[in-house]
Amino acid sequence: MLDIKFTPTTNKKPKPDQHNLGFGNYYTDHMLIIDHTEGIGWHDARIVPYQPIQLDPAAMVLHYAMESFEGMKAYRTPEGKVQLFRPDCNAERMWNTNARMCLPQLPVEDFVQAVKALVKVEEDWVPSLPGTSLYIRPFIFADEPHLGVRTSKTHQFMIICSPVGAYYSTGINPVKIFVEDEYTRACPGGTGFTKCGGNYAASLISQVKGHELGYEQSLWLDGVEHKYVEEVGSMNCFFKIDGTIYTAPCVGTVLPGVTRRSCIALLEKWGYTVSEERLPIVDIVKASKEGKLEEVFGTGTAAVISPVGELRYEDDVCKINDGKIGDVTQRLYDTLTGIQWGTKPDDMGWTVPV
Ligand code: PMP
Repeated sequence: MLDIKFTPTTNKKPKPDQHNLGFGNYYTDHMLIIDHTEGIGWHDARIVPYQPIQLDPAAMVLHYAMESFEGMKAYRTPEGKVQLFRPDCNAERMWNTNARMCLPQLPVEDFVQAVKALVKVEEDWVPSLPGTSLYIRPFIFADEPHLGVRTSKTHQFMIICSPVGAYYSTGINPVKIFVEDEYTRACPGGTGFTKCGGNYAASLISQVKGHELGYEQSLWLDGVEHKYVEEVGSMNCFFKIDGTIYTAPCVGTVLPGVTRRSCIALLEKWGYTVSEERLPIVDIVKASKEGKLEEVFGTGTAAVISPVGELRYEDDVCKINDGKIGDVTQRLYDTLTGIQWGTKPDDMGWTVPV
């Protein structure tokens, strides 16, 4: 149990217009910090006014990318209450990330307590328009000033919050994706299963390339053979082929998404067969040519469910379901967003009040 000190701001910011929030443009009045020092452990948990942080230019994070982060949301229910969605899953994922990255691990209960404490303080920043939410960004970095390559003796864990708009302002829209067969996101033994900043820095080149080609997201293939599908942009991805639903296994190269895990649980509850076997991209293209590629969608905290309308692999362009949203895609979207925003009963016990 953390002892969290609170220093309220004396200078509250005006709230932004809920119709024009976008993503990651505004930050709330406070932030949470917990220090970690080798030999002492976690100490000085505090919520303080949102402000720039001071870092020594030799801080290890700036040189060796020694950091990790999480992404989750707080939702306002129709009754005006605020709730989180499976925060323990994010806590657990950061625990696993930090083990791989040699960063200190914050116990799951402390992580959840810290998130709840900050969101409680920022309760009036959780927007209420349909589809809006308060995005929560926990992160940790090595702040020891030292240029030798080794683990750091000091770290800071922080949480900041940002009110964000509806991902789709006019209902869910299918995206166009291209299969990235040149660059690699992850490889066995690497950091693909972690949420470390370096993974995202290394993926930007494909995003730039995709935009130049007129595509919104890249579909990543495995790093060894460039044969099996892994993730799409910064989402997990699902393929419905001839009634069966496939998604890449989380075996070290795929980020274990909280949305992915929730979709699998719902699909299995609804009686679908979900295969987590590796799926070759050529089988997807073949299924498309045979008219058996029924639905493709990405899953992630930001968009929840993102239908894919077109997929390009080399010279093949597969149109999926005539660019329309499939039944499973829509049902998952409606169910998950219903649970998250509290407009549907939470039969799965996934929401946590703040
Ligand atoms: N894959 C990657 C690479 C991601 O960045 C994300 C977003 N966190 C996801 C998948 C989806 O994870 P989640 O459902 O937990 O948001």
